[in-house]
Amino acid sequence: MILDHLEPLPPEEACLEESVGRILTSDIIATENLPPFNNSAMDGYAVRAEETTGASEKTPVKLEIQEVVRAGHMAVTELDQGKAIKIMTGSPMPLGANTVVIKEVTRPEGEERVEIFRQANRGDNIRGKGEDVRSGDLLLGAGTRIRPYELAILAAQGVGRVPVVGNPRVAVLATGDELVDFREQLEPGKIRNSNGPALASALARWGVQVTDLGIGADDPETMEELLRAALPDFDMLIVSGGVSVGDFDFTRVVLDRLGFDEIFWRVTMKPGRPLLFGLFPSDSGDEKQRKPVFGLPGNPVSVMVCLEEFVRPAVERLQGYSPAHPGYHLSGCVENEYVTPEERQQFIFCKVTRDAGEYKIHIIRPQGSAMMGMACQANALAVSPVGTRKLKPGDTLDFRWLK
Ligand code: AMP
Ligand code: MG
Repeated sequence: MILDHLEPLPPEEACLEESVGRILTSDIIATENLPPFNNSAMDGYAVRAEETTGASEKTPVKLEIQEVVRAGHMAVTELDQGKAIKIMTGSPMPLGANTVVIKEVTRPEGEERVEIFRQANRGDNIRGKGEDVRSGDLLLGAGTRIRPYELAILAAQGVGRVPVVGNPRVAVLATGDELVDFREQLEPGKIRNSNGPALASALARWGVQVTDLGIGADDPETMEELLRAALPDFDMLIVSGGVSVGDFDFTRVVLDRLGFDEIFWRVTMKPGRPLLFGLFPSDSGDEKQRKPVFGLPGNPVSVMVCLEEFVRPAVERLQGYSPAHPGYHLSGCVENEYVTPEERQQFIFCKVTRDAGEYKIHIIRPQGSAMMGMACQANALAVSPVGTRKLKPGDTLDFRWLK
């Protein structure tokens, strides 16, 4: 349902250094050959293959060294008959040479001469101009995700500005009268805001631009004011807390006043039941660019589960990826008993190990949506489907790693 309402952000230009992780919005055509010139693939000697015929350990061929070509420099001379030009990896091939004999099968005689112990074939150890990429070829297609590999080839081609899908600007607001900043001392009844920093750091890892709006009080007027002022600067809003049914849970009320179109509230999962999702109108009025808004439950463990399950695919859609809902593509064997709510899908924090080619799932007990210490012990999150009442040793569960 979330993905049905979202489209990639409009294209923009990113500088090359900041383009990793982004999605190309147009084809990039190669404007140069790669490599740009014939060059040596190895350290050794550029020679004429014909002149090494019969060379072996016992019957080396001896050639005079004519010059040394360093990488980054052109040979000054054309290779003479019966001579060799010492060459480095990446040095341009000298005219007249048609092969490179690797250094390991040679022995120098002073600086003047070299003995060659192996017959060479034409073209050996030469990287031909354009053999990797030809000028005019499609270098990278629209839709490509720029990994360091793609970044390398763009750099090699001298592409300094890259057309990519826009980068979402995401605002994070933690709500709750009980919250204080983590740098503060606690007064009685207060706790530190852990959701804000956790959300901001996870989002930053996914490459989005995050603004932490800090802490909002459980007061509809101040929350409305704060969000109204912030909204035009963001493509996505994430609020934690105040989405449940408590007397002071005002998140839905406030979002509603701001023109929120609620798509769903509450999901049959544990933890994370109170999750809220909807859309704010876009700044341009474009229906397709409405801004996703998540109301995450306040409990810190629920926040992290909802973030990965629901927010991440939404972020990825805005970023132009084909969102892969976190796939529970690994499965393992449960080691200990655990009772789950039959009517809800439960996400279970586990320690997974690998033993004799099989994953073993140790369920951490007890589990709780406010138990961050519990979550920190886990390296994996398993999912137990609706309809499961009790897990027993030997049962199979799907899981994913927690990163
Ligand atoms: P709520 O959804 O606002 O009812 O909050 C549920 C629980 O999560 C309460 O125990 C809150 O104190 C706690 N909580 C809410 N927001 C945060 C936060 N930002 N950091 C840590 N705990 C929170
Ligand atoms: Mg609250």
